[in-house]
Amino acid sequence: MSLTLAIVGRPNVGKSTLFNRLVGKRLALVDDQPGVTRDLREGDARLGDLRFTVIDTAGLEEATDESLQGRMRKLTERAVEMADVCLFVVDARTGITPTDEVFAEILRRKSARVILAANKAEGRAADAGVIEAYGLGLGEPIRMSAEHGEGLSELLAELQPLA
Ligand code: GDP
Ligand code: MG
Repeated sequence: MSLTLAIVGRPNVGKSTLFNRLVGKRLALVDDQPGVTRDLREGDARLGDLRFTVIDTAGLEEATDESLQGRMRKLTERAVEMADVCLFVVDARTGITPTDEVFAEILRRKSARVILAANKAEGRAADAGVIEAYGLGLGEPIRMSAEHGEGLSELLAELQPLA
């Protein structure tokens, strides 16, 4: 049984950038499925020697404002149920937003095993946001830059004991 990691968080924090980095070209073909499942992308990820399945919660970006919260909630809950562990991504440049708090609440209520990533953390502009991320009460955030490939060895160190 292989490990499944779900990447969750609000739109634009860098989930898909990280997904693409972890999966490379090893993107699994997903059947055309109805409902929220269609918006979950699954891929075969590799990090160091560790191979695992990664799920990206995509498809939120097109949602209209009024349907966004409900869609995000449904999609995230589905991903949490499919995964052994969730990577909760926040944007360290923007800092923690009320929408991030909604996601934190979903993860707590689902009793999900959570790894917290403060993304876009390359450079000093992210320092305040990384500190804010501690305030979510989900443990120590990994300082990450999906775009620049930073924080991946820290992620591997947290995943390895779960595999
Ligand atoms: P998603 O909506 O959470 O899937 O976010 P995306 O992966 O689509 O990224 C949203 C935007 O953030 C894009 O413009 C990315 O290029 C940018 N981005 C992603 N990761 C990083 C990062 O580590 N640093 C910076 N500065 N930008 C990033
Ligand atoms: Mg995305």
